[in-house]
Amino acid sequence: SLAGKTAVITGSNSGIGLGVAIELARSGADVVLNSFTDRDEDHAIAAKIAEDHGVNARYIAADMSSATDCRALIEKAGRCDILVNNAGIQHVEAIDKFPIEKWDAIIAINLSSVFHTTAAALPTMREAGWGRVVNIASAHGLTASPFKGAYVAAKHGVVGFTKTTALETAEEPITCNAICPGYVLTPLIEAQIPDQMAAHNMDRDTVVREVMLERQPSREFATVEQLGGTAVFLCSDAAAQITGTTISVDGGWTAL
Ligand code: NAD
Repeated sequence: SLAGKTAVITGSNSGIGLGVAIELARSGADVVLNSFTDRDEDHAIAAKIAEDHGVNARYIAADMSSATDCRALIEKAGRCDILVNNAGIQHVEAIDKFPIEKWDAIIAINLSSVFHTTAAALPTMREAGWGRVVNIASAHGLTASPFKGAYVAAKHGVVGFTKTTALETAEEPITCNAICPGYVLTPLIEAQIPDQMAAHNMDRDTVVREVMLERQPSREFATVEQLGGTAVFLCSDAAAQITGTTISVDGGWTAL
């Protein structure tokens, strides 16, 4: 059980981050949810997790594109035994057309935030004598696709930074690993299905199988619950000697 541990999950008001937060709460961890939006719904999601799982759950607004905000999130959380770096954005465009501000935002949110939150969290983990850093990278942290230059660069960077974090904490009861999802069925992906069906004149199952999951040999999406379960495993005693590595949850994408 993760009772007594506090988990901070960046970018966790939807999708994978929320799924990870729920699974950590199900395992007994107190959770700190985050996004930059600070809407009533964001606080309501935290209240529902607290009610459903009998844990302490809070929402703290912080913009992961800001170094100051990243560090303030960990400070405001008070303690951080489990840090899940999940916040991320995407932009798809050819290198010579790629907007500079999109490059900068993706590097800041998807990569630099991981440095800032980790730097702020390690002292609190050392003080507590235990810690887990789980970075949500991507199959694009291990392989590339055209037109995703900033995302692929940032996610490869996350995988590299994961290894350095693991080496700097190797002799301590702290681990750092990256989870590399393939396509995961989040609201973001779900919303693309009707457009893809129309564009290809295909039914839902066919467009998912043939178009969206073309690179995922299982031809099935991973789920946010599966991602959450993987994070819970990395926080378990069984995973105490797993550090500095990646776990792919990608239906065989990176085996191709
Ligand atoms: P999502 O859009 O549902 O979630 C992204 C989260 O990041 C949201 O909670 C959003 O509020 C938050 N966020 C965005 N910008 C932020 C900022 N500036 N400050 C704070 N929070 C911010 O998408 P998702 O699919 O759940 O993605 C979550 C992570 O998983 C990302 O790092 C993404 O790259 C990675 N990932 C997703 C997939 C997939 O298929 N969905 C696959 C591989 C990796």
